Amino acid sequence: MTKVLYWFRNDLRIFDNPALSAAVEAASAISFIYVHDPRLLKNTCAGIPRLGRHRRRFLTQTLSDLRHSLKENGYDLLEVYGHPEKILPEIAEKNSVGLLSFSRETAPEECSVENELLLECQKIGVRINSDWTQFLVSPADLPFPAGSLPQTFTDFRNTLEKKEFEKFIPAEPSSFIAENPPLHFKLNGIAGLKLDDLGLIFKNSGFEADTRFSNPTEAESRLLSAVYKADAPADKARILTGGESQAAARRYDYIFGQKNIRSYFETRNGLLNSSDSTLFSAWLANGSLSVRDVFRNVKKYEAVHGSGKNSYWVIFELLWREFFKHHLVRSGVRFFAPEGLYRRSSDADNQLSAPALMMRIEDVLACRTSESFVNANMRELIQTGFMSNRGRQNVASFMIYDLQIPWTLGAQIFESLLIDYDAASNWGNWAYIAGVSFDPRGGRKFNTVKQRQDYDPSGSYVAAWSV
Ligand SMILES: Cc1cc2nc3c(=O)[nH]c(=O)nc-3n(C[C@H](O)[C@H](O)[C@H](O)COP(=O)(O)OP(=O)(O)OC[C@H]3O[C@@H](n4cnc5c(N)ncnc54)[C@H](O)[C@@H]3O)c2cc1C
Repeated sequence: MTKVLYWFRNDLRIFDNPALSAAVEAASAISFIYVHDPRLLKNTCAGIPRLGRHRRRFLTQTLSDLRHSLKENGYDLLEVYGHPEKILPEIAEKNSVGLLSFSRETAPEECSVENELLLECQKIGVRINSDWTQFLVSPADLPFPAGSLPQTFTDFRNTLEKKEFEKFIPAEPSSFIAENPPLHFKLNGIAGLKLDDLGLIFKNSGFEADTRFSNPTEAESRLLSAVYKADAPADKARILTGGESQAAARRYDYIFGQKNIRSYFETRNGLLNSSDSTLFSAWLANGSLSVRDVFRNVKKYEAVHGSGKNSYWVIFELLWREFFKHHLVRSGVRFFAPEGLYRRSSDADNQLSAPALMMRIEDVLACRTSESFVNANMRELIQTGFMSNRGRQNVASFMIYDLQIPWTLGAQIFESLLIDYDAASNWGNWAYIAGVSFDPRGGRKFNTVKQRQDYDPSGSYVAAWSV
């Protein structure tokens, strides 16, 4: 009889979560915990928290939705504040937990937390079980031996497609009826069995789930007041709500409800409408949406409505996400190095003085650069946490090549502001545009003026997000 403690990380869902299913299967009693890590509240180079206010709000909503789902199944979700590698073994020991279970992460900081946790748990005789939950194809199933992961996306995608990567994606878990409107999912089996004393430890851990967590910090308030626009109409603001139920609703609506997927290829570069692209990224980033679930549902759509460029392109984009994630797992800290995986200095490496650099960063954050397209995109990002892919490419290129801001600083600013921040996708795309990894052409400089004319010909996007 094993008492199991399940530690939720960026896998904040109960449906299609292999790590969670394995834990439930192994358990005679099980409890669920989320640990708020204070290291994430440290500041970026721009003086704003790494976990910015949009993502903090999104996380709070996600945890509340998860707690609701767990409660419907007779469980609770405990939230504690501290370093997971210290707090979890303590809780496990005090509660005679036999197995600590969790989802594996891809970024080096999180991996080193896992390693330390493993050592601590070994000392006290608590077993550990972990699994991947963020991939279409798990690292172990990847058809590339050590050292041979393709450096370019095209080679990566071509090989995966040739090897029919679909066969590595497990069949859909049985409790889900895909083409029906979203339901609350059930955790099968064990109901009402909980660990006893976690509540006490929770109380003592010093975590207060108060509104400070989602409200702007002082630095964020200053940033907001610099870009404040009182009457941003709701219809142009892509404000996303966190949670597995919201993710399932969006997934259903985009693919089967409104069927926006049927025009994805044509609209994906759009700047203003919620129907332009899937908007799945924020839910994928914190794991409240399973990428395999998205894949299977696109395939279901194709089975009924036929396959074509539009639906194929959603999978194509998900393979970009996959490409960066696998590279991050294999390269570790080198993924974040200024010289990138090519060990190359970025074209835009420069000798700007620190004050000059800070002034340029401030101009970007105050949305007062010389390019209105960049300013509009930054204003949308700061106010909503979202920016389109076209916007991100242009802002990143402008910061790197026109303003000569080192790409690693740009990546840190996005880390704070993006609601869908994902270490692999964010740092991978920045490195790609800077030309230090993944791009044999050596960087992507966009002509931002031309891009504005091509993608916002009527000027409606810039007008919507201008002061
Ligand atoms: C500088 C820069 C930083 C970025 N940072 C992030 C980030 O932190 N988190 C993040 O999820 N995406 C990031 N992206 C990728 C992309 O911009 C977003 O995934 C996309 O805009 C999210 O909107 P969507 O869900 O509507 O995308 P869609 O166009 O609907 O695409 C579907 C899904 O495919 C994946 N995807 C699409 N484009 C990319 C891409 N270029 N790289 C990796 N995955 C992709 C995402 O998971 C996305 O949800 C970044 C891109 C750039 C240029």
